[in-house]
Amino acid sequence: MNNSVPEIGSPARTKAILNRYRLVAKKSLGQNFLSDLNILRNIVSAADVSENDNVIEIGPGIGALTEQIALKARKVVAFEIDENLLPVLDETLLPYDNVKIINQDILKANLPDVIRDEFEPGHPLKLVANLPYYITTPILMGVLQSNVAFDQIVVMMQKEVADRLSAEPGNKEYGSLSVVMQYRANVEIAFEVPRTAFIPQPNVDSAIIRLTPRESLPVTPYDDKALFGFVKGCFAHRRKSLWNNLQGIFGKQPEVRERIETVLNKVDISRQLRPERLTLLNFIELVNAFHDEGLM
Ligand code: SAM
Repeated sequence: MNNSVPEIGSPARTKAILNRYRLVAKKSLGQNFLSDLNILRNIVSAADVSENDNVIEIGPGIGALTEQIALKARKVVAFEIDENLLPVLDETLLPYDNVKIINQDILKANLPDVIRDEFEPGHPLKLVANLPYYITTPILMGVLQSNVAFDQIVVMMQKEVADRLSAEPGNKEYGSLSVVMQYRANVEIAFEVPRTAFIPQPNVDSAIIRLTPRESLPVTPYDDKALFGFVKGCFAHRRKSLWNNLQGIFGKQPEVRERIETVLNKVDISRQLRPERLTLLNFIELVNAFHDEGLM
């Protein structure tokens, strides 16, 4: 790299790039460019990226995070939907021969194919990104449900969503999204990022989440989709008791109520509990017990 050129994520260089290409950040695509080199480097460190790693990035923007990943990783493949950014990325990332940009909507991408075509096998695979916030949940659900075995996922998102994804039972942020995400991965907040670190500044603060996909759980549900639907149903009225929500799912007929009662006794869970008190394992035990009882 030419040492006289400041790195892309420095505020001065970010502003110069935006001016030179007359780029106006597109709100509709969640374009807020991170321009703080310490934070960019800390994101890459949070994923412990090393020269042995293959990395997927989503939404490289003008290349600030891509550059920091490229400095550490074996190879980076980044998906960018906005074709106006392609000539910018061609120039900003020119010094790096381990970067490949794919002009595609990540929600339509075939990740397993891209990974097979672009990466040499036998190396750790990581996902590192400053996500477009308007599609944080679909991206994460898609990634966690794809058959791709990421060793580590480190992504930036709106702080409020990060709090929900990482919330534990009993916390007011704990809900169906927390349970579903924690079913797939161990979720932790690595650090928070103030809105002032971006150009232009968003209206919300951000946080970096580290997701480590789970290998196995002590109990597994009879069906993933049934578990997700059941958890959603249990949180339909979070101020009401589990008993109320279960009747919302299965019905209020006396015969059904009796069977719900049988299941609750079997798994030893009180009908008066609010859904936010239930752990992931409670939900899995319940869904399996309702299945055994013939209600699902
Ligand atoms: N990585 C850059 C940074 O940290 O400064 C930019 C991050 S910006 C929050 C999100 C980026 O995602 C934008 O470049 C935007 O164009 C891109 N993007 C938005 N929707 C996308 C999609 N569906 N698929 C791929 N990229 C998308």
